[in-house]
Amino acid sequence: MDVEKTKLDPGHPACAGCGAAIAMKIVSSVLDDGTRIVIPAGCWSIILGRYPFSSLRLPAVHTPFAFAAAFATGMRAAQEFKAKKAQVVVWAGDGATYDIGFGLLSAAAERNEDILYICYDNEAYMNTGAQRSSSTPKGSVTPTTPLGKPEEKKDIIGILVKHGVPYAASASIAFPEDLKSKVLKAKAIKGFRFILIHCPCPTGWGMDPSLAVRAARLAVECGIVRLFEVEKGKYRETYKPKGLPVELYYGLQKRFKKPAGGFEPPTC
Ligand code: SF4
Repeated sequence: MDVEKTKLDPGHPACAGCGAAIAMKIVSSVLDDGTRIVIPAGCWSIILGRYPFSSLRLPAVHTPFAFAAAFATGMRAAQEFKAKKAQVVVWAGDGATYDIGFGLLSAAAERNEDILYICYDNEAYMNTGAQRSSSTPKGSVTPTTPLGKPEEKKDIIGILVKHGVPYAASASIAFPEDLKSKVLKAKAIKGFRFILIHCPCPTGWGMDPSLAVRAARLAVECGIVRLFEVEKGKYRETYKPKGLPVELYYGLQKRFKKPAGGFEPPTC
């Protein structure tokens, strides 16, 4: 990765090894200066920093949990009204995307609004103590699923593809070139574009910060996270996994182990 081009400055307040910060480091390296970033409530509300300070060298706005897609829609309309060309990018966690902001996300996708929506998927409400979201994988132990989550992870890309969006893709922080090429491709497409980035959270997943990228890579190589894109309804796998045993991925994290004394909430 060309770290010189990233627009995320060092010294930001994310936890060590934060996958969501690594994701921004990669993505912002291929975003144009002046790209408008819309951030609903979540870990990135903190990582961005408190006004007038910011960790990101891009104009960014905070929104309430549910409203990022609607806010971005209005911001893009204002850009068009003023004949300006800045991209509007939503940068949202899975809680804001899969659950709380889902209605407005669905509405924006169905209207094919000209926005790029990127979800940094750390698979729970990490900013408030790692409670389960509908992105949390089955079996994961969280404060609200102390015996392991019984439901499967929601297929958010499948749902958005059914909205007829022109571009949707999955990506991983362990495959930065694949991620960057998807952002570059999405930037060049008009209409609603969606990218889901698998972002390990060492704090919420119960693992050493040094293991975040290894966990992301194992998720792909074990076939748990697939790297693909769907362009105009056409599915294409962008990486063939090695098919490693899934235990390698699950074994790195405490969230798939049920502690005898109950769930120990992470401290952030
Ligand atoms: S809780 Fe997780 S996602 Fe949030 S800042 Fe810390 S490592 Fe990143």
